[in-house]
Amino acid sequence: MDRAKLVSLDKRHVWHPYTAMDRYEVEDPIVVARAEGPYFWDIDGTRYLDANGSWWVSTLGHRHPRLLRALAEQAASLAHVSLAGITHAPAACLAEELVAIAPGEGELSRVFYSDDGSTAVESAVKMAAQYWAQNGRPERHRFVALGDAFHGETVGASSLGGIPSFRDVFKPLLFDVHRISADPRRGGWEQAVGALAALLEAEGDTIAGVVVEPLLQGAGGMIVQPPEFLRQVRALTAKADAFLIADEVFTGLGRTGHWFACDVAGVVPDLLCLAKGLSGGLLPFAATLATERIFDGFRGARSRAFFYGHSYAGNPLGAAIAREVLAVYRDEEVLAQVTARAPRLAARFEGLAALPGVERPRALGMVAAVDLGRGGYLADAGWKVYAAARRRGLYLRPLGDTVYVAPPLNLPEAAFNELLDGVEESLREVLA
Ligand SMILES: *Cc1c(COP(=O)(O)O)cnc(C)c1O
Repeated sequence: MDRAKLVSLDKRHVWHPYTAMDRYEVEDPIVVARAEGPYFWDIDGTRYLDANGSWWVSTLGHRHPRLLRALAEQAASLAHVSLAGITHAPAACLAEELVAIAPGEGELSRVFYSDDGSTAVESAVKMAAQYWAQNGRPERHRFVALGDAFHGETVGASSLGGIPSFRDVFKPLLFDVHRISADPRRGGWEQAVGALAALLEAEGDTIAGVVVEPLLQGAGGMIVQPPEFLRQVRALTAKADAFLIADEVFTGLGRTGHWFACDVAGVVPDLLCLAKGLSGGLLPFAATLATERIFDGFRGARSRAFFYGHSYAGNPLGAAIAREVLAVYRDEEVLAQVTARAPRLAARFEGLAALPGVERPRALGMVAAVDLGRGGYLADAGWKVYAAARRRGLYLRPLGDTVYVAPPLNLPEAAFNELLDGVEESLREVLA
């Protein structure tokens, strides 16, 4: 089918995520026909460098041959079966492997599977709530989340979310959370520690858990916090006996140059949420890791079981791919690749601040960002850079006025340089 026909079908029927459809209707969308490594190709042959790894999932690039092989091999014997009274090799072996690499010395010993980042977080929230409800502390049912937090799309995950443009319209549906801002523009992390300490002091007995995106708040605008912030939050939650829920859906699986952002701070959370890169951009697949203490809180009568579970929980294809993802990370030394490159990425973005109108350069591992103003998510500046980048064959979707890159972690050197040059040239063009 030709390009024009596809675009017309799409514009007639497809409702796109996070997309103002009136604007979209007058745009010429990219119609992707294939993808490989850090690139995808429009059906007309135009090549694009995928600067955000397709919404942060393609940590090993597109169609990594080993992941494709793992998928095909698994599909040849078992594509799906429920995890209800059933297990299979991919689910059992992956669980052991995740426990082995998780922060700490095996404290995060139990693995609960679900579908995507939102459900990994939803699982953690419900686990925490049910744990306290059936272990003598039902008054512990409130959560603390950060300002501009992003934890996903379900009503539960949205309740934790703090980005006004995603949240306000649903306000009447959402459960109430305590909100602490750790944004350097609004007082910074030291103030957030003080606020959390005061809150836990006053109302700690009612807190089920404190939820964070460790070190890096992604969708909120690539807000970076120092490891010390996470350590302080861990110390305060431990003291108040509130669970620390680490949402590493974005930061996990090597984004920071470590397996997990928690490792950078030497912190072990009570619950750890994983998705996105876990299945290397092939299939939706997620896991929530919990401590033995939390798991033990669900032992006993049938009525104490964790009443939660998605149809595709522990899907064999996803689990087999995730196992291969972990193996590729080891064999290709992906974490070391990130650590080696991170300083160059950071230095290049630091340099961008010399351009007039570019503010707040920041970087962590294979993520770097600058702001073009303070207009937030609905601002236009980032979209002008997006258009300029697209003309150069660089897919650089912004978060409002935040221009950022979160490319595959293993992108080849030539693509890495192309990325750095492309961002700079696009910014120069727009700001000239
Ligand atoms: C993307 C994201 C989610 C949601 O993941 P989905 O797979 O889109 O449901 C949750 N938490 C964080 C930190 C994320 O970046």
